[in-house]
Amino acid sequence: MKFINRNIEELEPYYVPDMEEGEIKMDAQENPYDLDPDIKGKIEEGLRALSLNRYPDPGYPALKKLLAEYSGTDPDNILVGNGSDELILMILLASGGPGKTVTCPAPTFSMYGILSKLTNTAYAEVPLGEGFSLQPRKILATKPDIVFIAYPNNPTGNCFSRKDIEKILKESKGLVVVDEAYYEFSGKTFADCVKDYENLMILRTFSKAFSLAGIRAGYIICSKSLIKQLRKVQLPYNMSVINQSVLEMILKNRGEVLKTVGRIIESRGRLMAELDKISGVSPYPSDANFILIKIDNIDRTMERLEKRKIKVRRFVSENLRDYLRVTVGTENENRSFIEVMTESVQEGK
Ligand code: PMP
Repeated sequence: MKFINRNIEELEPYYVPDMEEGEIKMDAQENPYDLDPDIKGKIEEGLRALSLNRYPDPGYPALKKLLAEYSGTDPDNILVGNGSDELILMILLASGGPGKTVTCPAPTFSMYGILSKLTNTAYAEVPLGEGFSLQPRKILATKPDIVFIAYPNNPTGNCFSRKDIEKILKESKGLVVVDEAYYEFSGKTFADCVKDYENLMILRTFSKAFSLAGIRAGYIICSKSLIKQLRKVQLPYNMSVINQSVLEMILKNRGEVLKTVGRIIESRGRLMAELDKISGVSPYPSDANFILIKIDNIDRTMERLEKRKIKVRRFVSENLRDYLRVTVGTENENRSFIEVMTESVQEGK
C-alpha cells in the first residue's frame, strides 16, 4: 500500500483472539483473581482525590520510590511505562533501528520480533538447545546490539541457567534485556546485577502477579546513565495520573495483593500432577504462571477445548505445532481444563 512503509505492511500483528461471552480465559497469563474489594475501595478513594485537569507529574517520584523499595534498587534506576510492550518499543527506539541486530532465543515472546521489525531492526533467532536451554555462544556469534531474554521464558516456562545469561552479559558488546514478567512466580531475578553490568536492563510488569493487566503498566530497572537516555524516547507524561495513583496504592498494599501468587504456585503444582497422569500429554516444568504442554493429538484437543469455551494458546510456528500453553486458572477453571484433556485422550483410544 502506497501510504504505508514496507516494514509495516509486511508485519503480522500480535495475535489477540476475540472475547466470547462465558469463556474460560486461560490464554494470556493473566492473574485469574481480580483485586480484593478492600483494595479496590482504596483505589477508588485515591482516584477521587486526583486533579484530572492537570498533566501528571512526569517524574512520578512517589511511584519510583515505592518501586525502588519493592525491587531493592534506587529510584534513579527506574523508568515506568504502559506495559512492558511500550518499554520494549522504547528500548528499540533508543538502541535498535537500521543497521542494528536484535537476537533472541527461540521460541520466545513474540513482541520482541514484532517490535524489531516495526523499528526496522534486523531480527535473529537462535533455537533453544536440549531441555529448552540457552545457547550463549551461538547468540554471541550473531553480534547482537540487543538480546532479549525472557526469564522465565514464554512459552517454555523455564528460567535459563544463570551462568549462561552471565556469559552473554559479560561478552556481548550490546544491551542485554532480561524480561522478568513472571518474576513473582519464579522468585529469581537479575535486579541485584544492575550495579555490576552497564549493559543490563531488567523488564518487569504489573500484568501478571499484581492482577493489573487491565491498566497496562510495567517498569525498567537499569543503570542511571541508561535511564537518562531512555527518558529521551519517552513521550511526555506517558503515565496517566490514574495509572500512577493505582500503582502507588497497589505497591503500598503489595503484601495483600501478592497473596494470590502463593495460591497460583500451589495450583500450578496440582495442575502439573494431574497432567502427568494423562497419557499422551507431556507438561513441562514451569517457573511461571503457565504450563507448556506437548499433546499427541492436538487438533482433537483444541476442538474439545473450543467447544467448552476454554481459551488456551496454540502456536503457528511448525516446531510448536503439537504444543499448547495454558495459564494457571482458578481451581474450577483448572478442573474444567483437566476434564477436557482427559476426555480428549480417552476419545482417541
Ligand atoms: N514479557 C513477556 C515475557 C510476556 O510473556 C508478556 C505478556 N505476554 C509481556 C512481556 C507483556 O507484558 P505487558 O502486559 O506488561 O505488556
